[in-house]
Parts: sequence; C-alpha cells; structure tokens
Amino acid sequence: MTSTPAPTIGVLALQGDVREHASALESAGARAVPVRRAAELATVDGIVLPGGESTTIEKLLRVFELFEPLQAAVRDGLPAFGSCAGMILLADRLEGGAHGQRTLGGLDVTVRRNAFGRQVDSFETDLVVDGVPDSAQDPVHAVFIRAPWVEQAGPDVRVLATVGTGPAAGRIVAVRQRDVLATSFHPEISGDHRLHHLFVQIVTDRG
Ligand code: GLN
Repeated sequence: MTSTPAPTIGVLALQGDVREHASALESAGARAVPVRRAAELATVDGIVLPGGESTTIEKLLRVFELFEPLQAAVRDGLPAFGSCAGMILLADRLEGGAHGQRTLGGLDVTVRRNAFGRQVDSFETDLVVDGVPDSAQDPVHAVFIRAPWVEQAGPDVRVLATVGTGPAAGRIVAVRQRDVLATSFHPEISGDHRLHHLFVQIVTDRG
C-alpha cells in the first residue's frame, strides 16, 4: 500500500497567529512552512492566511512583493484558508474597509470588516460547521476577535456555518468556494483542529 505524502502548507508569516496555525496544521497531518517571499509561495500545496490586522497584512504583502504573486496563485487555484483578517483578504468585495484598503480576492463574497463591533465585543460561541464531522453533536468552539462576517455570498459559495444565537444570529461565519475556505473566527487558538483537518483534506484531494 502506498501512503500519500503529507502536503506542504504555507502559513503567510507577515503578522498574526502564524505559530498557532503551523502547529494546528502539523497536528492535522501537514508539513507547515512559513511564507514571506514569492519563492517560498511557489513551493507550497496550499496557504493559510492568519488573523491579525488586514490593513497591516496588506501593507506587508506589498513590502514583501507578495501581493500580486499571492493574488495570482489563489486565482490560479492554490487552495487557501483565511481566518478573520485572512477572510477579509480573500473577499472579492469589502464593506467597512479602511480608506483605500484592497483585498486579494478569490472568494465571491462581500465581507463586512469589524462587523460584530469593537474589541470589547469579541465573543465565543459553539458552531455546527458543514464539512466538520460530528460538529452537530460536538460543536466547534469559535473565538471571534473584532471579526468580519460574510454579508453576501455568490452562487458558487457554500455557507458552512452561521451563528446560532444572540444578536448576530444567522450571520455567515464560515464559507467555502472550490478549494478556498474562510472563517470569521480563529480555529487556530481553540485547540480543536478539525477545520485544519478539513483544509488539509482539501489540499490532499486536489493533489
Ligand atoms: N479587525 C481585523 C481586521 O480588520 C481582523 C481581526 C482579526 O483577524 N482578529 O483585519
């Protein structure tokens, strides 16, 4: 029997929860490598865009001359997983962005930045996530920190999770379009690696 080699997944390492994503990916069976340069991007089978501050990450992408290469790679089908600021970066359309803020795009969604309110309004909740086995019985614990939500999703976008209760009930917080996955929340800090497993599976299935 032959076993599939572990896919190599890059973690955009300009700002944010890089280490946490890398260790979640390793737990989910991938080889995780930091990506700061176009040459490094060219070696990966998939890429994670961590949370942080989307305006800062956009600036750093330009400083590191990675904005265009990353945009092109995602457009050409490189599997990508964005959490929080990473979701903002993957959105084709942005509401509530900073003046002149641009996104890489790749997901046919409109994302509202800082949708849930300010830092003090950050919150945690349990979610059923389509594609995460057993999450109806054993929900995904989701941590939202100045998070965006998906305001509108195009016809090819699958909504994977919505908030169940509270003032944000019904808001879309996880989506997938082909091999691009995005969550409003931070799956890397909860110790539950099922979303990273899902992404590793997406990357493996593609290869
Ligand atoms: N509010 C941040 C932004 O606009 C995202 C927050 C996060 O990634 N935790 O980029």
